[in-house]
Parts: sequence; structure tokens; C-alpha cells
Amino acid sequence: MIKTDIQSIDEYNNKIKRVLITKEEIDEALDKAAERINAMYDGHPVLLVSILKGAFVLMADVCRRVTVPCEIGFMCAKSYYSGTVSAGKVSITMDLEQDISNYHVVIIEDIVDTGRTLKDVVNLLKERGPISLTVITLLDKPSRRVVDFAPDVALFTIPDCFVIGYGLDCGEYYRNLPYIAEYNEGVN
Ligand code: 5GP
Repeated sequence: MIKTDIQSIDEYNNKIKRVLITKEEIDEALDKAAERINAMYDGHPVLLVSILKGAFVLMADVCRRVTVPCEIGFMCAKSYYSGTVSAGKVSITMDLEQDISNYHVVIIEDIVDTGRTLKDVVNLLKERGPISLTVITLLDKPSRRVVDFAPDVALFTIPDCFVIGYGLDCGEYYRNLPYIAEYNEGVN
């Protein structure tokens, strides 16, 4: 179990083990992802769907780069509670407002780990009959997969470590870091 109540600013900073992906690298990858969306939909409107909370930063950065007409929508789906161990179940605690049957839907996700969350979300959304459904994730941890799921686009493939920053948290902290870092599980 990871201790997440921070006792001091030193403890907080020491938990940031090393930067895995810099802000500049993220920016470059986002430019390419947006170009891809613009080319794929070629002027047709899209609905960008983000899974809260982790993908909120990514959504803000992607939607400002997209030049096709776009709406945004949010869902809340959780498979992790506190700490770094998957609880292994997914619950949808906030759903989309839109009836997606007339939309090209693009899911904008922060990270695919076991794959459970996105597999469930994708199945749910497919049942609602969108015109098309594409999954773009910032990070992919394929070595952790426990279900058969592959995103259409993964901007970075990372090793099996717990990461924080750029929307991703540990115990709700670190979402505001502008880069992706490895979380230091060993220090207080
Ligand atoms: P999955 O269902 O693929 O196992 O998990 C997806 C969710 O687990 C992500 O949306 C994210 O909230 C959380 N998660 C998985 N790996 C990490 C990680 O390395 N760091 C953080 N902060 N969250 C993670």
C-alpha cells in the first residue's frame, strides 16, 4: 500500500523518482496526434470523449490542436482506487450527456494498463452505435495487460512502472506536473 498523505514538501518531491517523458516530448506527440485526427476526419465533426480524472489535461491539450469541428464529453470510469494496485473492476460513475449514435467518437485516454477500463468503456459505447469509434491513449503499458485490448493510437509505450503527472495522480497529488514521471514507491 502506498502512503499518499504527504508529511512534508521534501517527501512530496522525493516521490518524483525521474522524468520519463518531458513536456516537450508530450507537446510533439500531441501535435502528431492532432494532425492524425484532422486527417482522419477530414472536416467531419467529432466527439472527443475523455475519461476523468486522469485524461483531463490531455483532453484540454488535444482539443486545442484539433481543427475539425469538435464537441467534448466526459465520463468517469474507475478501476484504481488509492495507491498503485488495480482493484480489478470498472464502474461508470458519470456518463456522457450526448446520444452518440450520430457521432464519430474519439476516446482520449491517459493510460492503458490492464486494459479493463477501456475495454469496458469501448464495449459500452459501441452498443450505442456511434458512426465510428477510435481510441487514442497518451501512454500504453502493454506488459501489464490482462484483457485483450489494443488502443488504435498510443503516443508512448512505457515499461511496467507507476507514473504520475500530466493528469495522472497518486492519491490525488501530482496531476499538475507538466511532465510524466516515475513514482518513487520506496521513499518517504
Ligand atoms: P486499466 O483499466 O487499464 O488497468 O487502468 C486504467 C486506469 O488506471 C487509468 O485510467 C489510470 O487512472 C489508472 N492507472 C493505470 N496505470 C497507472 C499509472 O501508472 N499511474 C497512474 N497514476 N494511474 C494509472
